[in-house]
Amino acid sequence: MTTPEPWKKLLEELNVKRECLDMMSAAWVADYRSHGGSIFCGRGCRECCSLTVNCTLTEAVALAPTLNDAQAKRVEEYAVQLGELTAPMTDLKEYLRMQRRDMGWCPLLEADGACGVYAQRPLSCRALLSTKESYFCGVDFADLTSQQKQDYALSLDRSVTDFPLHYVASTRETGGEMEARALTLMKQQFGFSLYGNMPVLVYLVRERGLAEAAVAGREAAETVVEQAALAHPFLVDFAL
Ligand code: SF4
Repeated sequence: MTTPEPWKKLLEELNVKRECLDMMSAAWVADYRSHGGSIFCGRGCRECCSLTVNCTLTEAVALAPTLNDAQAKRVEEYAVQLGELTAPMTDLKEYLRMQRRDMGWCPLLEADGACGVYAQRPLSCRALLSTKESYFCGVDFADLTSQQKQDYALSLDRSVTDFPLHYVASTRETGGEMEARALTLMKQQFGFSLYGNMPVLVYLVRERGLAEAAVAGREAAETVVEQAALAHPFLVDFAL
């Protein structure tokens, strides 16, 4: 697939942002470890890959052409099923729990537990650094006893975490700022911006021509999303 020319500048800036975030994260981890802190992320440690992953449309445009056929098939199946399950939902918390419970792993996670698109993974994945063992990235906190929740809260290094989460706050903030910048650039380029569920956006770009539609404008992009039966605010957000 060919990426339309008007996206090229946005993709170049995205590449710079990714490199900056990766360098900043690596430096942060090295410094934290040198002061006795622990970061538990590593290849094959996949528990956070069952969380909902959102990204900007720019990231989806970068990611979509890099998929192999097997990955593209999994992404399509995932997006269609998620669309069907999400359609009647109105409660965001219930949607987030449903996605983890009923959809399982990210469709880009490979059988060996490694990310299948590591170099192209979204900013939100890059920014996630866990200060706790992988068990805490996969557990549903609603299932913990009050004692377990209390022990968890007491064990956190609150000087660096995004409390009550056990993820590093500074990298998440930087990732969020980079996403916001990407959305601003998209708005300047196309007159609107778009953020949403990563597999859904990748599917819409790869199979439904969303990148081309965006060049034509918001109305054309909305039509693509509606025709794919994925026009749900939890999945695709035009409001940003
Ligand atoms: S894109 Fe990669 S790192 Fe992100 S959730 Fe999917 S498999 Fe995990």
